[in-house]
Amino acid sequence: MSTTLDAAKTRAGVKLARQVFLLRLLGLGLGAVAVGGVLYEQGHDWPAWALLFGNGYIWPFVAYALSRRSSNPRAQEQRNLIVDSAMGGLWIAVMQFNFMPSLLLFVTLTMDKLAFGGWKLLPRTVGIQLLTCALVSWMLGFGFAPESSLPVMLACVPHFVAYPLTVASVTHGLLQLSHRQRLEITKLARTDPLTGLLNRGHWEQKALDEIQRFQRSHSKASLLVIDIDHFKNINDRYGHLAGDKVIKAFADTISSVTGKSDSAGRYGGDEFVVVLPNATIAEASDIAQRIQARIREVDIEGGPSRLLSTSIGVAALERGIDTLDDWIGRADVALYKAKAGGRDRVVEAPSMTAAFKPPIPSQ
Ligand code: GH3
Ligand code: MG
Repeated sequence: MSTTLDAAKTRAGVKLARQVFLLRLLGLGLGAVAVGGVLYEQGHDWPAWALLFGNGYIWPFVAYALSRRSSNPRAQEQRNLIVDSAMGGLWIAVMQFNFMPSLLLFVTLTMDKLAFGGWKLLPRTVGIQLLTCALVSWMLGFGFAPESSLPVMLACVPHFVAYPLTVASVTHGLLQLSHRQRLEITKLARTDPLTGLLNRGHWEQKALDEIQRFQRSHSKASLLVIDIDHFKNINDRYGHLAGDKVIKAFADTISSVTGKSDSAGRYGGDEFVVVLPNATIAEASDIAQRIQARIREVDIEGGPSRLLSTSIGVAALERGIDTLDDWIGRADVALYKAKAGGRDRVVEAPSMTAAFKPPIPSQ
């Protein structure tokens, strides 16, 4: 695995350890209050109190330090979670199965394992918890006093309230993060990385949608195919980086002239495409002229000093166009004519219905 990936994995592990640390500090800190209620009633000596203090208020810091120092923080965090479970089992036995705090420890420790380790970690940790509980209970003579007094129940309240609310809030934050990341991934999958315009695949889908809309309701739409003039010369003279800047500047210009409902995409290389819904060919040509005019004003730092120009083919969506290839093909022929005619111009594809002459009926 590459070093970059390793570093990313370690960073993610440390981030997980930090999240678990905060929850552990809260969960064990408040859990110690609940257990402390039972220890107080049972009249335990200082060693039990020292162990409880260490587990509730020192162990979270030790666990965090261990994870941060580990070369594999995620694996260390799983070991920490196992220690949490073992200690939970110990306290349930020490409390002689006092119902309320025992239930609280069992449920929250199980919840932690599920939240951070998934179902895979659960059998191991529950097993260790039961084993520790049985062992400690045996060492202490199998004491069993499940009734919880009111003070003990009250000592459980801070944990019962604060811990689930915090877990819910953390979960909400994670859900929002995952939603934002999903949106970002979808956007990345749809856009061309250099220009930020739609990439070819996504643009084609938009254009196909427009053809289907036309077939359903005969709505108007036009297509521009835009190609930078003599772009190879720009690359050759100023280098590929300057060429990239030119492509980006063209894309920005196209975006600044087209509207929100228009779909502008990078078709490939120095060729751009724009679907203009509801635009007649005359309106589309007007937009094409405006793009050309803006492009003539573009000034690229470290790039070509001469005026940049572009050739544009325009084709309206009309009867006889059944596929995207038909539509692009017609705009492409117009673009070819613009190039052949001297470049830096807009050429419209002639209307197919105007060219169509009905056959003269035979006498
Ligand atoms: P014409 O006026 O006939 O369009 O001439 P042209 O030189 O622009 O010819 P063409 O459109 O065929 O040239 C496209 C060039 O664009 C060829 C390729 O090296 C370059 N190119 C394609 N993609 C990129 C890119 O992402 N960055 C850069 N810098 N150059 C690219
Ligand atoms: Mg070109």
